[in-house]
Parts: sequence; structure tokens; C-alpha cells
Amino acid sequence: MKDKIRAVASFNALGHEGKAELNSVISKTISLFPEERKNLKTLMPLIKEIVDEVNSLSAEEMKAIIERDFPELLATTSKEEEKRLPDLPDVGKEGVVMRMAPSASGPLHIGHARMAILNDEYFRRYGGKLVLRIEDTNPANNEPEAYQMIQDDLHWLDVNYTDLVIQSKRFELYYSEMKSLVEMGKAYVATSPTEEFKSRKQQGMPIKERDETPEENLERWDKMVSGEYAKGEAYAVVKTDLTHPNPAIRDFIAFRIVDTPHPLEGDRYRAYPMMNFSVAVDDHYNGLTHVIRGKDHTANTEKQKYIFGYRNWKLPFYLHYGKVSIEHTILKTSLIKKGIRSGEFTGWDDPKLGTLVALKKRGFSPLAIRKYYVESGIGSVDTTFSWEIFYSFNRKIIDNTSPRHFFVNQPVSLKFEFEGKLNASIPLYPQTGNSATHEKREYSVGKGSISITSQDYQKFKGELVRLKDLGYFKIGDENIEYIGQEILEDVQKWNPGRPLGKVPIIHWLSGNDVPFKVIKPDGTSEEGLLEKDALRFTGKVNQFERYGYVNVLNEKEGYFTHP
Ligand code: GLU
Repeated sequence: MKDKIRAVASFNALGHEGKAELNSVISKTISLFPEERKNLKTLMPLIKEIVDEVNSLSAEEMKAIIERDFPELLATTSKEEEKRLPDLPDVGKEGVVMRMAPSASGPLHIGHARMAILNDEYFRRYGGKLVLRIEDTNPANNEPEAYQMIQDDLHWLDVNYTDLVIQSKRFELYYSEMKSLVEMGKAYVATSPTEEFKSRKQQGMPIKERDETPEENLERWDKMVSGEYAKGEAYAVVKTDLTHPNPAIRDFIAFRIVDTPHPLEGDRYRAYPMMNFSVAVDDHYNGLTHVIRGKDHTANTEKQKYIFGYRNWKLPFYLHYGKVSIEHTILKTSLIKKGIRSGEFTGWDDPKLGTLVALKKRGFSPLAIRKYYVESGIGSVDTTFSWEIFYSFNRKIIDNTSPRHFFVNQPVSLKFEFEGKLNASIPLYPQTGNSATHEKREYSVGKGSISITSQDYQKFKGELVRLKDLGYFKIGDENIEYIGQEILEDVQKWNPGRPLGKVPIIHWLSGNDVPFKVIKPDGTSEEGLLEKDALRFTGKVNQFERYGYVNVLNEKEGYFTHP
């Protein structure tokens, strides 16, 4: 049991920058071993102890523990590979028409990726059309760069939409649709204070304009469109049912007056549609057959259905998936914009952010994002985004193509007195069986100095270690001594405290390095020495042995991908 928990903690740590989280390890353990729930009291201190122990290990050691003690743990996630999204009902011969409707407030983040991937998966399955509709009818939140960034993000995700619709180009359509509703007596234009509208609605009561004639309302509508009212002076409302048990679904505001200039249209329009109005009109005119969106839109769907009903439009099939909470990253556009302005973030692709541009720059494969969301499905149950599962998908995808290199963080330089030369021949891609990738890094090491990490130095000072692919060495206070290629004597003679046969294997550098900085998603960074050969792979993810995956951005720094 202890070994299994250690593996669970290791798996969790690999998903959280090398630090397992006690609560997640406890809940994962219980979900894997439900019969242990009754022993929780005695298990808790044990799990705490194991988590502390695991948190001092390197990623390599964690992976080794999982493979040795609980390989099925990985199988429980890979079994899910067969997961497939359920079929959609009512798909005709022409396929589907689906859409992604992000607002123009900024680039897409890992949360938006879900709606893009799910819609795209169905479009791929059935054919038809996939519309990208940029919703930009709230100028106060619009970000001029967003129009292009959203499209770039989707291209990166390999989401190939067939049509691009920009809502601010469709004001005339929204106006004529609203006018029809007013003429039909299904909408009204009010100048009563909005407070009064809200409080009467709460009590299931109308404001006076609701009962006025279409002619009177039309007159105010024309004035609203031609800009005769100041901000807040008038608003247009779609009638629903004032006695609806859910007050959120009773009469809703469909237009308001906006003074903020629009990034594309300037001050050409003053009457702006609210989301529920423009979404309903567009879903109809874009020919949507299936609308897949988050559960937070459930009440909106009910409101939008009134418009479909009044106009006798065919309803699309609606599906609302549960909310995914994404912790340990920053997603909120307003916070990001503020942080970029204050210099707290370097840009939309700062590694602390959950934007797609940041994940791209950290070296994630868009395939890992797709796989994650396909496997999470479209159920209505709320879930929490699992970074560890996401990291494990990405690791599987990039591992074979990531060359391995040594990065010695916080280096300690040890004097190496040696006559002659030692040769090291280190595979660049030891993880693949592919002979085309049998390339090696060749080094010749002689008198001079050898650097190892200060962590290894502290841990193994006075002991025998194996410098990876170079030989056995003894670490002294200020120097390092070559012992040989094979150790014939009992290892315990060298390292009395360590279990038999286990000589730690550590990475090293000697004259073949450059200073390098790794910037981490938690905002910290680590400085050290990087094997110069890694610079041949600038713009690519490298695997820094015993450290983690790093996207080498330039000759001085890289972004940490994940352990
Ligand atoms: N633009 C809306 C939003 O980002 C989406 C509307 C919808 O999916 O219906 O919340």
C-alpha cells in the first residue's frame, strides 16, 4: 500500500511542478482504493509523510517509482484512450452547422479550448460548417488585438472553421429583427428607470411600457436607433413570461445605449444588442443545427428560445456541458490586461498565464489539449482540470521528439585533476527505438573542472556517484576524483549509508556549457549551465535530464513545460 501511495503522490507531483498536493493525493488514493476509506484516520499521517518524502525527489525518480511500483496507474489513464464523444441526435445528410462564439475580449485560454475542440470534433465527424463568430458587441471589453489572436489560436489548435462572422458587422440585421419583435408586440422599449424594471420583474409585474401599443414602442425604438437617447435613458426588452418561476428568465433586456467607441465601428452605432439577443438572431441566421456550450448558458438558452418561438424559427439542438474549474493558472482577461500594463506579465504569452499562446510558448502540443477535452467528454457534471493528466498526455506526445540534454542548475564547480582524457558518448534520444535518432553527443573530458548541481553536491559529498555516461567518481569537498568505469568492490565500502548496488547517477557538465535560465510558470526562475548542444534545438522542447521538459526559446533562456 505504501508503495502504491508513493506512486500516486509521484504522479500528482509530476502534475504540479514537482510538488504533490496532500488533498489530491488523499482523494486519488481513496478513489483507487475505496475499501481504504474506513482506514482514513490512520492513512492520513502516512500519506502526509509520503507526500513530504516524494516532494524531495527528482522527476526522474518519481517516474521510476510509478513504473516500478504502480505501472497500472498510467494504464488507468491510458485506458480512457478509447473514450469517444457520444453521437449527436438529428444529424442530416448535409452534416452539422456548429459554432464557436468567443467574445473579443482577448486571446483564447485553456478554458475556451474546450468549446473549440468539442465543436470541432463534431464538425470533423459529421462535416457541414463550423462557424467562428467573434462576439464584439460590448466595446468596453473589446481588445482590438483579439480578432487576430483568436484566429491564430484556433489555427494552432488545428480547428479549421469554415466561416467567420463578426457581430459588429451585423447591426442592421439586429435592428431589423428587433423592429419586427416590437411590431409584433413581443418586445418593448422603455425609459422607466432600470431599477424599477428589475424590481417589478422580481415581483412578476410589468412596467408601464410593456402594456403600451406597438406604435408607441416603435417610436421609441426609432429614437433609440437614431441616437436620441443618452446612455441609460432607454433600453429595449424582449417579453417572456413575467410569472416564470425563474426570475432570470422573465423579460430580458435586449438592447442598451453604449457610448464607448467600438474598435472596428467607432461611434457609428449607439444602440447595442445584448448577448442573448444577438446570439439568438445569429444562431438562426448562421443556420446552426447544434449548439454546444457550457452549463452557465442554460438560462440564456431558455431566454433565446422565446425569440425563436416568436419568429417561428427551427430550434437547434442544445447541449450544455459541465463547468471545468481550472486552478493554478491565471485566465481572467481583465486581470491579464492589468498585469501586462503594470509589467507583472511580459505579455499574453507570459508563462504564468493559461492562455493558449502561453501554453504554446511553454512547448505544449495542441494534440494534448485536444486529447484532454475529448476524454473529458461532454457530461453535465462539473469537474476540475487535472494538470497531471494533461501533463502526462503532453509528455507522451513530445517525449520521442525531445532531445535530452544536461542542465546543471545552481552549479558547483569541482576541480578535476586528471592526466589523460575520458570520453563520453551520450544518446540524444535514448527514449526511442528509432535508429534514425541514434545521434550522440560526444565529449572528451580532461584536467579542469566538472560542474554538478548544488543539490547533488550537498547530497552526495564524500560519496561515490556515477556521472552519467562518463564513469564512477568520488565527490570531494572541492574536487572530484575519477575512480573507474566499473566498480569491482562492494559499493557499500564507498557509500555505507546507501542500499547495496545503488550508486546514484547524476548529470554533469565540463567545458561544454553556456549560462542558461529556466523561467517557470509559478513566476520563479532557475539559473544554471546548459549543455551547449541544446542550442542547436532552439525553438523546440528539450528534455533536461533529471529536471524536466523545457522549451528552449533562445540561447539564454527557456520556458519550463512540465516535469
Ligand atoms: N460570447 C459568449 C461567451 O463567450 C458565448 C455565447 C454562446 O456560446 O452562446 O460567453
